[in-house]
Amino acid sequence: MASSTDPVTNGHHSSNGEESRPAESCLVSPPQSVTSPVDPVRPAKRLRTATECVVVSNPSDPYNSSSVPIYQTATFKQTSATDMGAYDYTRSGNPTRSALETHLEKIMRCERAFATTTGMSALDAILRLARAGDEIIAGDDLYGGTNRLLTHIKTYLDITVHHVDTTNLDAVRASLNSKTKFVLLESPTNPLLKICDIPAISTMAHAACPSALVIVDNTMMSPLLMNCLELGADIEYHSGTKFLSGHHDLMAGVIGVKDAEVAKRVFFIINSIGCGLSPFDSFLLLRGMKTLALRIERQQENAIKVANVVQSLGFKVNFPSLDSHPQKKLHASMAKGPGAVLSFVTGDVDKSIRIVEACKLWGISVSFGCVNSLISMPCHMSHASIPAHIRKERDLPDDLIRLCVGIEDSEDLIDDLVAAITSSNVSKEDR
Ligand SMILES: *Cc1c(COP(=O)(O)O)cnc(C)c1O
Repeated sequence: MASSTDPVTNGHHSSNGEESRPAESCLVSPPQSVTSPVDPVRPAKRLRTATECVVVSNPSDPYNSSSVPIYQTATFKQTSATDMGAYDYTRSGNPTRSALETHLEKIMRCERAFATTTGMSALDAILRLARAGDEIIAGDDLYGGTNRLLTHIKTYLDITVHHVDTTNLDAVRASLNSKTKFVLLESPTNPLLKICDIPAISTMAHAACPSALVIVDNTMMSPLLMNCLELGADIEYHSGTKFLSGHHDLMAGVIGVKDAEVAKRVFFIINSIGCGLSPFDSFLLLRGMKTLALRIERQQENAIKVANVVQSLGFKVNFPSLDSHPQKKLHASMAKGPGAVLSFVTGDVDKSIRIVEACKLWGISVSFGCVNSLISMPCHMSHASIPAHIRKERDLPDDLIRLCVGIEDSEDLIDDLVAAITSSNVSKEDR
């Protein structure tokens, strides 16, 4: 924690509402002096992750509240003119957000975790570590919003972005050089469930450029099923809107950083932009995360059953638990399970539309990770912003159906889906 005796170098006060030092010094001052408040007491013993999810430490609460209170306040009063205390301004630090971040550090097993307003603002904060002349190697099958932000960066900043097939090690190797700043990965990709070899790419990237940071968007797996930092990555981030919160009732982003110096720079950026998660949303995310292990376990179990049934009906299913998945082994070497998102093709766009529209239990919605099961047609919904010719290049078929499996009784989910598939064999005109 920052010493509160030196208000000038005590970083988390550096860009609060009432600047405690001149604006330029904020820009040029080394971010090393910047730190954010952390919970002073962390449990020493590592528990199993499912247990860690429900054990939220809140040692500084004067009333021993069972759930972390919402500190809905922008400012904190000082006890004296010179002692700023642990918190002064919520953009820089807030006890509810700190409790969430401490909790995330345990679950993600990282040096420092940060909670931001959305998954995209988490990525934005990370990307601001790059400077002019740097190069970024990114997948060619990324989340649409990620693509959009990278396009902005390469258009307006002097930063090169190479989109390569990151499931192909040779393609990654060919783009690596001493200017590589980031290698940005998603695994499994969404919605095709393609797998990247995170350990091999991390080793290659660090060998080609020791200062390169390997960043993984781990939203599809959640911290419970895959730990990217242990696999060799430097930063992992999540859309907290998905599995972490689990109820589609809030937006959030989460960043886990391996190295303390990198973490200081990320905090400097989050504090400077002001994209830290609000106290109320921090409370909601903390509450959602208590059931993360339970939800993931049930969602994944349901997803495995659904994948087997859909495959048994003769469809080509993309899901890394299936023997038919070409990278099943690679995925299993990195993650504890296949997750709860799968996709399949029907061979006919109209048939796919009929299936999606005939489902009663599966809600037609973008996003995933919710307790409720969702069905979508990525090319017409979440991935519609990708031009048709690029979708074709990436083998993203128009008839692709994505299933995001929830916690309902699997029998009901399967009954509903099978009924929709059966009814889809009759075209609309004949019904
Ligand atoms: C949803 C999502 C994001 C963006 O997160 P938001 O919280 O919507 O900003 C990024 N990556 C993946 C893989 C996602 O699914």
